[in-house]
Amino acid sequence: MSRLIAISNRVAAPSGGKTAGGLAVGILAALRQSGGIWFGWGGKTCHGEPSEPKLEKHGNITFATVDIDKADFDGYYNDYCNGTLWPLFHYMLGILKYDREAQEAYQRVNQLFARKLRPLLQPDDRIWVHDYHLIPLAQELRRAGAEQPIGFFLHVPFPSFDVLRTLPRYRGLLRAMAQFDVVGFQTRQDCENFLGGLRSAGLGGAPCGDGRVAALDRRILVDAFPIGIDVEEAAEQGAASMESASVQRLARDLGDRELVIGVDRLDYSKGLPERFRAFETLLERHPGSRRQLVFLQIASPTRTGVRAYQEIRHELERSAGHINGRFAEPDWTPIRYINRGLSRKLLMGYFRVARIGLVTPMRDGMNLVAKEFVAAQDPADPGVLVLSRLAGAAAELGDGALLVNPYDPVGVADAILKASEMPPQERREKHAMMMQVLRNNDIHAWRRRFIEALGD
Ligand code: ADP
Repeated sequence: MSRLIAISNRVAAPSGGKTAGGLAVGILAALRQSGGIWFGWGGKTCHGEPSEPKLEKHGNITFATVDIDKADFDGYYNDYCNGTLWPLFHYMLGILKYDREAQEAYQRVNQLFARKLRPLLQPDDRIWVHDYHLIPLAQELRRAGAEQPIGFFLHVPFPSFDVLRTLPRYRGLLRAMAQFDVVGFQTRQDCENFLGGLRSAGLGGAPCGDGRVAALDRRILVDAFPIGIDVEEAAEQGAASMESASVQRLARDLGDRELVIGVDRLDYSKGLPERFRAFETLLERHPGSRRQLVFLQIASPTRTGVRAYQEIRHELERSAGHINGRFAEPDWTPIRYINRGLSRKLLMGYFRVARIGLVTPMRDGMNLVAKEFVAAQDPADPGVLVLSRLAGAAAELGDGALLVNPYDPVGVADAILKASEMPPQERREKHAMMMQVLRNNDIHAWRRRFIEALGD
């Protein structure tokens, strides 16, 4: 079996001491199977041309990390990836910022990755590139002479053409995507948006009859590969952490009140101010729910170098303070807001204690929290998932979750109420339905399907 070369912006190298998230679990499992290299940024910046990649070998996997020039990094990561592409791909044009120099830094970092990776490649390697940070990488690798099959998986949504063309030089982005052999998305809708983009831009998009589509002078495979989670691990962690003192303290403290939980990176695409407003609407319109529900929001700070992220943090603090000031009683606080990340194990325990999981992004590629919440439940007495229709996960979990439009606070408030009143039998049925979906397409099935598409 040929080696796999996985490339992502960050690399979860064992020496980095970071716990592996869902993506890392999938990449590591794929790499372990066939052996290979995980290549990306190591987390350090430098001045000028970076030195050769640092190589760290663990079993059959080599972790190869490069530094990035500080000025290029700011343009590439903060400005272009997180200031331009992220809002564009999440349909948030109001906060989209564009700077031509940042776009050029983005291209330069992709050139750097190609230049540093190229000497590490062998002729029969297969290459799997992850996410919007690295869209031009196939183009740059081809320019550097690489002929290996190269696949791309976009973890975030891909917008419709009318939104995409807001981006100056958007055709360059489509052209770059057409340089991959396999282009994978989270949902069918994302595939349709990409193909529609190719057609509208006059770059191809017509089926070739062999399952591929024509793009420029190439034939590429475009398909949906919805990412899954390690279902059994989340279920085990959920059950095991009921023993944890901290989870037990929370359960005791709740007494017969029901816990509503939200867990997100503090990102404006996650719909947190809107979620707080929906909870306020619930307390306003249904006074009977006051004192009965406690809403725990855990939001870990992220991308703190980007202005929009600093603003949303202040907005949420204000909103939590306002709602608590308005409704709290001496012995009941409606919203408990934690502004930091917690360990995975603890999260799975909190999920299991919760009666309602509130996952209401304004737009999301998949949303793994939705899947983790379901997997961590006690099947005999499971909680209910309230899920945004605009999350990729809704395409898979739509039959078992209560779907809501996050722009409609009354609709979200009604769904929370409905979830809190749902009889146990209905909760069990819905949970079993969702678990079946999660098990059929877990993180291992996801990476197997993609690698298969890339060819052995
Ligand atoms: P995104 O990739 O946009 O952050 P996802 O929901 O797909 O959103 O994945 C987020 C991952 O990070 C999940 O595995 C989740 O458990 C974890 N996570 C999110 N928020 C927190 C938090 N506050 N503390 C710890 N882990 C978190």
